[in-house]
This record gives sequence, structure tokens and C-alpha cells, in this order.
Amino acid sequence: MKYDVIIVGGGPAGLTAGLYSARHKLKTAVFEEGVVGGQITLTTYIENYPGTGSLSGMELAARMKKQTEEMGATVVKEHVIEIKKRGEGKFNVKTERGTYECKTIIIATGAAHRKLGIKSEDDFVGKGVSFCSTCDAPLFQDKTVAVIGGGNSALESALYIADIAKETYIIHRRNEFRGEEYLAEKISKNAKIEVLWDTLVTEIKGKTMVEKLILKNVKTCKVSELKVDGVFIYVGVTPLNQLAKGVGVELSDKGFIEVDWDTQQTSIPGVFAAGDVTGRLLQIGVAVGEAIIASTSAYKYIKNLQK
Ligand SMILES: Cc1cc2nc3c(=O)[nH]c(=O)nc-3n(C[C@H](O)[C@H](O)[C@H](O)COP(=O)(O)OP(=O)(O)OC[C@H]3O[C@@H](n4cnc5c(N)ncnc54)[C@H](O)[C@@H]3O)c2cc1C
Repeated sequence: MKYDVIIVGGGPAGLTAGLYSARHKLKTAVFEEGVVGGQITLTTYIENYPGTGSLSGMELAARMKKQTEEMGATVVKEHVIEIKKRGEGKFNVKTERGTYECKTIIIATGAAHRKLGIKSEDDFVGKGVSFCSTCDAPLFQDKTVAVIGGGNSALESALYIADIAKETYIIHRRNEFRGEEYLAEKISKNAKIEVLWDTLVTEIKGKTMVEKLILKNVKTCKVSELKVDGVFIYVGVTPLNQLAKGVGVELSDKGFIEVDWDTQQTSIPGVFAAGDVTGRLLQIGVAVGEAIIASTSAYKYIKNLQK
């Protein structure tokens, strides 16, 4: 099968890129290996995406998919294994089911939040466990929340959550933060934040929602319980960059795809990238914005091929 544009990843970035490419009258396919909608399907409510009001992640994903398909893009439920450049404007995209040809590619494979790797962590995603304070902190108004991690994201999140929640704990496995001193100082001056140093979370417990954490002090080995309504896990994100690596695009030292911010083009002409995989602020609005730029650039790239 031949397409003008193939988009890898059917999250907000991929679906938006599909919408715009199809609207440019390009033959467009969006390849998604899992649940169409990407990470937004993991969250109960989205309250910060303009124009939708408070909406479930599944509903927003369904609406994005519908609009993209109605515009003329095809959503293909296949895992992309490899991208190969055969020449200018000539790419092969290999999946488990076959090889597709296209003139340009948009990589929108997203990022996976690093997990703690403990018992019941997965069971409570969207039920008190969150990886995104900007998105979910308002759900914990006047409640007790723990933030796990010691880098900038964890510290920024704790400061943001402390304005909303009744009590905020930071649980960090070391005795000093990795994040900036400026943030650490703000944390130390904030009466609503308590830091539990040298502490690991070994288990998350609750009936249907998060109710408590089992903690272990790494120095004394003392085990204790902490009652919480929510847990924000900030132990880093991993960009899903295997395809990008395979085709040879440049990555940052943290593994995000390097792009020209004006066009979203990667180091390989004809290959564009958008969304969490580029490592900007990890939000739907940002992913959507980058996808609009990427698909417009892909359209121009194809037009230039025809000259
Ligand atoms: C629990 C949670 C709550 C959140 N809440 C909010 C919120 O309220 N507001 C907000 O703005 N942001 C929120 N976010 C962040 C937001 O979901 C992301 O910023 C956004 O989804 C990024 O979109 P994306 O398309 O770049 O990546 P993703 O959503 O990660 O989508 C990438 C897609 O690519 C697919 N894929 C990867 N590799 C392949 C391959 N080889 N072949 C085929 N498919 C592939 C993946 O399966 C995935 O579906 C939340 C995130 C989480 C985890």
C-alpha cells in the first residue's frame, strides 16, 4: 500500500497530524499499536484542554479519532517495526503485517513515564496514581498527596500540588534532591510540604482508590505506612525512540528526538516528529501544536518534491 504521509503513533500528536494531513488532501495513514488516543486514555478526566470542558480521556481520544477519520485519514492498528529511507521522498514502513510506502513520515510515538516497578502501581493508574500534576492535581483539592521523586519535575509538581492539596509529602530515596537548588529552597520554605528523605515506596494499597503507601527507610530499614489520597510519580520519562534511532535521526542526550522547532523536521529530510517524543512540556496542547506544524511541514516537503 502507498501513502503520501505515514504517521507512527495514534496519540493526540499522531491523530492531529492525521487530521491536518488528510485536510491537505494527502493520502494519510496513522499507525497505532495499542489503544488509539495514547496516554490520554490513561486519565479519568482532562480539564485543561481548551474547548472541551471536563472530559474523560477515553472520550477525548474517541472524538479525536472520529474527526481524523472523518477528514479522510486511515487509522491502522499495527505495530511499526522499522522505518527505512530509500531515497528523497521515498520511505518504507514495516509492520508485523507488511511493508508500506510513503513520501514522508511523522514520528509521534510519545513517551512512557518511568514507573516505580512496585506491586499494584498499575492497578491504581487513574485511581489515585498519576504521572501528571498539571493534569490531575486539581482532583486532590484539600486532600493528602505524595509526590515521589527528587528531580525538577517532582519538585515543581510538589510546589504546584501544595497550593491545592491539604498536605503534600515528597518521598525521595536519597538525602538530597537532584533538582535545582532554587526549587529545593522553595520546598524547604513551604509549610505545606514535608519531605521524607531516604525513603522508598514499596507498595500502594487501597480498595478501589489509593488509600495508603507502605514506606521503607533505606538507612534504618524501618517500615511504615502513610495515608494518602493520591500519589504523583515523577521518576523520569522514557521517550519511545526506537524507530527514530533505527532510521538514524539525531536524539538529545536524554533520548528525545531533536527537531527544528520552526518545522518539526528531524535531522533527516522528510522525517518529522511531534508530541512527547520531542521532549517539550508533556501536555496534550503541546503535542497537538507540534503535530500541526509537523503536518504542515510534511505537506510543504511533498509539494517541493513535485517541483
Ligand atoms: C495519567 C496521565 C494523565 C494525563 N493527563 C493530562 C491532562 O489532563 N492534560 C494534558 O494536557 N496532558 C495530560 N497528560 C499528558 C498527555 O497525555 C501527553 O502529553 C500526550 O498524550 C502526548 O501525546 P503524544 O501523541 O505525543 O504521545 P502518546 O499519547 O504517548 O501517544 C503515542 C502513541 O504512539 C504509539 N506508538 C508508539 N510506538 C509505536 C509503534 N512502534 N507503532 C505504532 N504505534 C506506536 C503508542 O502506543 C501511543 O498510543 C497525561 C498523561 C498521563 C500519563
